[in-house]
Amino acid sequence: MNNEHLAAVRKWYPDALTSIDTVNRLLDTVEKRLGLKPHQLMHADSMCCDDVNAIQYPPRALEMLGPFHMGGLNGYPFAGITGMNAFAHHVPEDGAVLIFYAPHIGISKEGIIGEISRIGQSANSACCGAAKGALGKLAADQIIEGNITSLDFQMNTIEQIFLHQKERILNAENRIFEATEVMYEAIDDRIEVLVKHTGYPCRYVILVGGIFINGDKEMGSFCQYKKFEVIEMGSGKRESLMGEYYL
Ligand SMILES: [Zn+2]
Repeated sequence: MNNEHLAAVRKWYPDALTSIDTVNRLLDTVEKRLGLKPHQLMHADSMCCDDVNAIQYPPRALEMLGPFHMGGLNGYPFAGITGMNAFAHHVPEDGAVLIFYAPHIGISKEGIIGEISRIGQSANSACCGAAKGALGKLAADQIIEGNITSLDFQMNTIEQIFLHQKERILNAENRIFEATEVMYEAIDDRIEVLVKHTGYPCRYVILVGGIFINGDKEMGSFCQYKKFEVIEMGSGKRESLMGEYYL
């Protein structure tokens, strides 16, 4: 990773940091504000099951308990209420649940968005492949309203999300960038609903939402936060930690 790579990413995501810096700042902010160490945090993530996310997962995140994986294709929390309830009951009583959720998108070192160079491959490939697939079907008018099958449930769900924002995505200056924004909003909405329906036997729930950016094989990954909020379970009070995160 060098500054050129971060510059390529920041053309699209001006506040992006490397995922190593992202996790360091996250854990530092949580410790400073809430006095909690990583081993007191039950970490759940909602990220795409793409293997590149496993390869580029920031190692320091593993200092937290977990992760419990909520995500399926492109980070939508397909594990639903059952998933949310499961890890909520694994949390240390004096600790917190920390939920990180993000759709992902590739940016190559040349700054091309929606694709990356993967290990052992000579040509670039789509990233997120599911988002690009759904976008292709949207542009070709091939998505049928309400069509969700058991054979391809997750993909069909993403297709429906895009279909409901068809004009916005197809008229955007960059369609895959915009589709990823749409995906973030859908994930964020769903996470908020799931959190509302779950009881957490701990002090805090920390919500961290953003865009996870995969670089080419030699670049590593990056992240731009969109939300970093802490909810105090006793009072229900909610506070943003974005200011401190970016200090
Ligand atoms: Zn993906």
